[in-house]
Amino acid sequence: MASDPTPRVPEVEGNEEVAESTTPDPQPAAKPETTGRVSGPTPRVPDVGALDEMAEAEVPDPKAELAKADHDTELGLRMAEDAKRVSRGELTSEAFWARHDEAAAEEFGDDYRETPNPAVDRMDDGQTIHEAAAGELSCSVQNMDEIDPAAKTDVAEGDEDVRMGMVIDLQNCVGCDSCTVACKAENRTPPGVSYNVVIEEEHGEFPETSRTNLPRPCMQCENPPCVQVCPVSATYKMEDGVVNIDYDRCIGCRYCSVACPYGARYFDFGEDYDDEVMGAGEVTSPEYGVDRGERGEKSSPVGNIRKCNFCQHRTERGEEPACVETCIGDARNFGNLADPDSEVSQMVNSERAVQLKSEEGTDPNVYYLR
Ligand code: SF4
Repeated sequence: MASDPTPRVPEVEGNEEVAESTTPDPQPAAKPETTGRVSGPTPRVPDVGALDEMAEAEVPDPKAELAKADHDTELGLRMAEDAKRVSRGELTSEAFWARHDEAAAEEFGDDYRETPNPAVDRMDDGQTIHEAAAGELSCSVQNMDEIDPAAKTDVAEGDEDVRMGMVIDLQNCVGCDSCTVACKAENRTPPGVSYNVVIEEEHGEFPETSRTNLPRPCMQCENPPCVQVCPVSATYKMEDGVVNIDYDRCIGCRYCSVACPYGARYFDFGEDYDDEVMGAGEVTSPEYGVDRGERGEKSSPVGNIRKCNFCQHRTERGEEPACVETCIGDARNFGNLADPDSEVSQMVNSERAVQLKSEEGTDPNVYYLR
């Protein structure tokens, strides 16, 4: 008699007995190096060269970008290229200024650089939003004096052993863009300005395809060409490694946005979302803890360059940047890279950790886990 070829399938309903499985237990799947990965198959992440190419999507055409500004395009192109050379160690900062001092002084006149940037000294001097104003603006920022000192980060205390950084696990990023939306809502950025973008790309050919989502905030570079190039010293590096912009000094020349290898800087043309959200233009940004009132044609940050600063107004209060708090895939991690015991430091020591465009010598404080 021929045997029955139909495999036995255990009945589901009405069967009290559970059939014994003859299949050996599968080997436990290898655990990823970092904690917190969402369950499911491990996404394939392309090599860093492909990630670098993806990052190019946000880099503006230098000539076209500078042509929109009121300053010398050719000088901007030369200064931006040389600022990148400084980051790569091919030129000293002194040699940079020796080369461009005369032309920059002529072009920018009274605005020409003053160093050190006075904003650094002004940080504790009334540049914060008072509680009443914060309430009116529906933002969480308040006067730093009123914040429990225990809630402030080491950053606010000026601790030199602080280098704030972000580690983004590309295997956890699902490309939902909630970080982009959270960033826009938190910083009240206008149309055309998005401190954080998620660059998405498909790789391979069907059926061997994979999708990569590359979130791109400002890299808060250790050797930032944007700081080197700024002819009016409006952009500067904080002691905690974060690169800031002094809107009161920025003249919107856009040399920095051309010098940035990551396209992380955006010009504020003064547009707003009034067509979509009634009164959108009446809402100011809580950035840097400064209440600038209603957005107006000639009042900063309109006419300035803008970019991510890890939500400094939040981190000073001991909170995480909005994108980190909102990330549904737990892909973003934020902390002190100078502390070898911090979670982010341990992640950076992983073999999966890479920096974008490392050949630029910028040494970003944003790392990616492949
Ligand atoms: Fe400056 Fe940020 Fe661009 Fe680096 S990524 S050059 S810090 S704007």
